[in-house]
Amino acid sequence: MQGMMLKDAAVVHEIDASGRFIRARFTNDGKFYQTTNAKTPTEFNQLIEYVREIFRSIGAKMLDGEISARPYKKDDNRTGCTFCEFKSVCGFEPDSKNWLTVPDWKDADAIKEIERRLKTGGDEHGRQ
Ligand code: SF4
Repeated sequence: MQGMMLKDAAVVHEIDASGRFIRARFTNDGKFYQTTNAKTPTEFNQLIEYVREIFRSIGAKMLDGEISARPYKKDDNRTGCTFCEFKSVCGFEPDSKNWLTVPDWKDADAIKEIERRLKTGGDEHGRQ
């Protein structure tokens, strides 16, 4: 199973003692390997709060009538439109400058940025 897990070895062992389904790796003294995608309860709560804030912001904009398409574009030029089934009808102009740029942060950098934005309020969709 891909994704994040709670940074609590006891919980991970209780859920999947065999390690077949949850890909957590532990050091000999029972700590998570740095490469394991485990988050503390504080980090999980920040992520949840941040996602809620993004939903609130998007909902408010939609209620204000702003419904334009704004797909993401990453630093390496990958976009949200690449495999989209609605490309032929949505009307978004790829040559426009209306992309939502998404930096390729490492997890730790993203967590720091989310924490900062939650403290400062960020702007629409959580951007700075
Ligand atoms: S092609 Fe249109 S609908 Fe699909 S992701 Fe891009 S902007 Fe959105």
